[in-house]
Amino acid sequence: MVVSRIAPTPSGYLHLGNAVNFLLTAWYVRSQGGRLLLRIDDMDATRCREVFVDDVFYALEWLGIEIDAGPSGTEAFYRDYSMTRKTERYRGELQKLEEQSGLLYACECSRKTLEGYGGSVYPRLCRDSRHNLETHRSAMRIHVPDGTAVRVGERTIMLDREMGDFILWRKDGLPAYQFVSVIEDRDLGVNALVRGEDLLVSSAAQRYLAPMMGAERFANATFIHHPLFMGEGQKKLSKSEGAYSLKMMGYTQRGREMVFAEARRLAALVGIEPV
Ligand SMILES: [Zn+2]
Repeated sequence: MVVSRIAPTPSGYLHLGNAVNFLLTAWYVRSQGGRLLLRIDDMDATRCREVFVDDVFYALEWLGIEIDAGPSGTEAFYRDYSMTRKTERYRGELQKLEEQSGLLYACECSRKTLEGYGGSVYPRLCRDSRHNLETHRSAMRIHVPDGTAVRVGERTIMLDREMGDFILWRKDGLPAYQFVSVIEDRDLGVNALVRGEDLLVSSAAQRYLAPMMGAERFANATFIHHPLFMGEGQKKLSKSEGAYSLKMMGYTQRGREMVFAEARRLAALVGIEPV
């Protein structure tokens, strides 16, 4: 059975692009007779806020999307689902991954040092460092060997060139997005993902991790990456800018029509049946 999830990060008000992705995910799951889960990623406590969690539930109701499992509201979310209380468990997963893969290393590089190298691919300065998983005072990266090709749907991503040795654990003591995402999707039994094209390289990074973390279903999941809903001037929408936020547009009927029209257009492009 298809199991997928809507997985917002409550770090800002949702925008039209998020709503379009929610609809595409829900349509895909319904058309496959699958299960739709809600997983709110509030790991980054410095950016996430309760009003943004409220906004997720408001948006789901406004779109008429029903969830099969997961938090039913903001209160239930903070009571039973918040990821911020699972830090120790994630730390245990990191330890296990280190022991089993031998690919992790500590990175002491400052942002300034890395800026000097330009580009987004880490230059492996700390690759041969003696890491210390006990203290976790530095960031932890995973080695992505040269020539690492990862298949995502129809496409193949050269992960060493597109992302390089990426971060699993942040210097500030929190697990990084790619790492947590694989753990949570594994534990929920997710086997299908509907995402924007901006997450294509992230999908590759997560697929690279999945087999090392016992996430077999995720490693063999169906990936559908859809074009993004663009704002004026074909700019990618961002939560932090607030433009095109559902809240600012007042959750109006006009906004709803825009979201549905755009979702139907993109659904046709990626072969999802609106249901
Ligand atoms: Zn480093």
